[in-house]
Amino acid sequence: MPSLAHLLARNRAWSHQVRSAAPDFFQRLIAQQNPKYLWIGCSDSRVPANEIVDLLPGELFVHRNVANIVVHTDLNCLSVLQYAVDVLNVEHVIVVGHYGCGGVRAAHHGRPLGLIDTWLRHVQDVSERHAAFLASLPDEATVLDRLCELNVIEQVLHVARTPIVRDAWARGQLLALHGWIYGIADGLVNDLGFEANGPAKLASDYAAALAAITHPDRPCVGHAHADPAHVTCDPPRSGHP
Ligand SMILES: [Zn+2]
Repeated sequence: MPSLAHLLARNRAWSHQVRSAAPDFFQRLIAQQNPKYLWIGCSDSRVPANEIVDLLPGELFVHRNVANIVVHTDLNCLSVLQYAVDVLNVEHVIVVGHYGCGGVRAAHHGRPLGLIDTWLRHVQDVSERHAAFLASLPDEATVLDRLCELNVIEQVLHVARTPIVRDAWARGQLLALHGWIYGIADGLVNDLGFEANGPAKLASDYAAALAAITHPDRPCVGHAHADPAHVTCDPPRSGHP
């Protein structure tokens, strides 16, 4: 069996480096964690939550699963959400998808892979909900990019519809939900424009976010930026290079 001594050595070096910069760093963490944000992202090894937004240990509460899915019967995800909202009082829940998601691609292709087929069925539900739009797109790479984005929007809606979030909003707790997408090709996060702050505008905010993604004049984002031969982008949306 191969040794993992190299990982333990890296851990020692990291701990030493952190303590050199801030001698009381770990002592302060012992006292409490006080994150303002819950990150619900993909398990993909290329999408490390803290690094992407440059946050330290203690600053980000994290749940990750394949294809960043929020299912109303998933006690794991719901327990994380409930603890984050009710106990930690996070102010933001961010669902973060990413372009090039293998889970989304597998769901789109539908080839049997085993147990995970059942999990990815939730992404296929998203795909079928937006089948007419996806069928209108010019190529598979674009279909996958848009499906990654639509999956984020649908999962934000799922978060909003949980009793956990609805109860928090009902008692006046400040809690904002967000949908982001991360580009593995450029390391940049983009806001998909779905911010939910309460039940009143949830339906209209959801509709507006979908309309932005499915608009026929939407600038090209996603996979194309990884392709140096791609030169036909329209002017990018605000915030995207
Ligand atoms: Zn993924």
